Amino acid sequence: MNDRLYKLSRTSPESTDLAQTAQEMASTTRRDFLKTLGTACVAIAIAPVAEKLSVAEAAKTENTPAERDWSKHKWGMAIDVEKCIGCGHCVVACKEENGVPKEPFYFRTWIERYQQFGDETVVDSPNGGYDGFPPETERAERLDKAFFVPKLCNACEHSPCVQVCPVGATFETPDGAVLVDPDYCIGCRYCIQACPYGTRFLNPITGVADKCTLCYHRIHNGQQPACVENCPTGARLFGDLKDQDGPLNQFLREHKIHVLKPHLNTYPKVFYSGIDKEVR
Ligand code: SF4
Ligand code: SF4
Repeated sequence: MNDRLYKLSRTSPESTDLAQTAQEMASTTRRDFLKTLGTACVAIAIAPVAEKLSVAEAAKTENTPAERDWSKHKWGMAIDVEKCIGCGHCVVACKEENGVPKEPFYFRTWIERYQQFGDETVVDSPNGGYDGFPPETERAERLDKAFFVPKLCNACEHSPCVQVCPVGATFETPDGAVLVDPDYCIGCRYCIQACPYGTRFLNPITGVADKCTLCYHRIHNGQQPACVENCPTGARLFGDLKDQDGPLNQFLREHKIHVLKPHLNTYPKVFYSGIDKEVR
C-alpha cells in the first residue's frame, strides 16, 4: 500500500504525462486481457495478482520511504458558499493542474449556480463555470436569491465508488483521499455509475476513471490544491481534520455545516457552509 501511495503522491498528471500514460497503457496487455474476460467476478479473482505486479513495479522505480506515516493526517475541504462569486478560476486552475480535457463535460471540479424565482429553483452550470456565469437578464426582476456551489469529489469516508470497483483500482488512502490507480483501472465505468455526486468521468485520453484527487501530488509537496490556491475569495479551505486546532476544524466549529446527500451515509469530507435544502 505504501508504495502505491508514494507513487500516486508523486504523479503530476499534466497533459503530456497523460498522453504518454495513454500510450503506455495501450501496450498493456493486462487491461486488454481483463476487458476480454469481461466479467466482474473473474476480475475480482485477478485483483490480487494485479496488486502484486503494481507494487513490485513501483518499488523498482521509486525510492520508497520506509517510514512515511500515511495515517497521520485526514484531509478534507470546507466550502464557504457565501464567499463564492462563480468566477470559475478554480475550474480553470484544476483543468490546468491536472491535465483535464478542455472540452465541456470533463471536470474534476465545477460550479453550479442556484437561482430562486419564487417557489422555482433553477440550477445551471454552463461549461462547468469555466468561463464564469452570464448575468440573468430575462427574469432578473423575479430573482429572489442566487448563489454558487462548487462541486468536487467528496472524498467519502464510505465511498460507493470504492465498494463497486472490481479490481481495487479505486481505493481510499489512510490520509482520507479517494484515488484511482491508472495501472489497475480497466475502464469498466462501475465507479462512475456508483458515485452519487456525479464527480467521475472516463478520461478520453487515458481511458481510465478520473476525478478530483484533492491534488494529492501537491498536498504531499506541502502545497494547497490548485482550486484552493487560485480562489480569489477564499471560498475553499483545505486542511487536516486530525489537526484539532487547525483552520479547517476551526471553520467547521464556527459555521453551520452541511454535507451533500447526507441520507446516503457516504460521510463526505467536503463540508459546505451557507447551503440549504435546495442544494443536492
Ligand atoms: S464523491 Fe463519488 S468519487 Fe468521490 S469518494 Fe464519493 S463516491 Fe467516490
Ligand atoms: S475560484 Fe473561488 S470564488 Fe471563484 S468560482 Fe471557484 S470557489 Fe467560487
